[in-house]
Amino acid sequence: MNCFGVIFAAANLSKLKRKIVMAIIITDECINCGACEPECPNTAIYEGADDWRYNDGTSLKGNVVLPNGKAVDADEAQEPVSDEIYYIVPDKCTECKGFHEEPQCAAVCPVDCCVPDEDYVESEETLLGKQRFMHPEE
Ligand code: SF4
Ligand code: SF4
Repeated sequence: MNCFGVIFAAANLSKLKRKIVMAIIITDECINCGACEPECPNTAIYEGADDWRYNDGTSLKGNVVLPNGKAVDADEAQEPVSDEIYYIVPDKCTECKGFHEEPQCAAVCPVDCCVPDEDYVESEETLLGKQRFMHPEE
């Protein structure tokens, strides 16, 4: 590869890196202040020990197949992800894509414990697809 090829490949890699984003996770440094919960446009944040539903704050109803192929009952109560601290449901988190320029939970958290979840690496297109699936009317 000549030097132009190297520059071109590096530019493409940098473009690809910009498009790889992740859902957000709350770490155990959470102080349970509750500031993040009302800020989430997808209702993906719940208080520890609370049940959650796909239909909370979304247009999903009844049996649906998520963009990732998972079949779920949107009305059914789901087990809490954490019993001790506020938690984020990865299937509902879009990193605020489609609503805001940056994750709103991370923006308001006083202890900076809303961080990218390396177990849920998704492209920007995937996150926007999730957002449109949950809020087709917006
Ligand atoms: S990043 Fe946005 S969509 Fe995800 S949990 Fe935080 S506020 Fe909700
Ligand atoms: S804003 Fe931060 S500290 Fe407060 S509940 Fe949310 S994650 Fe926990």
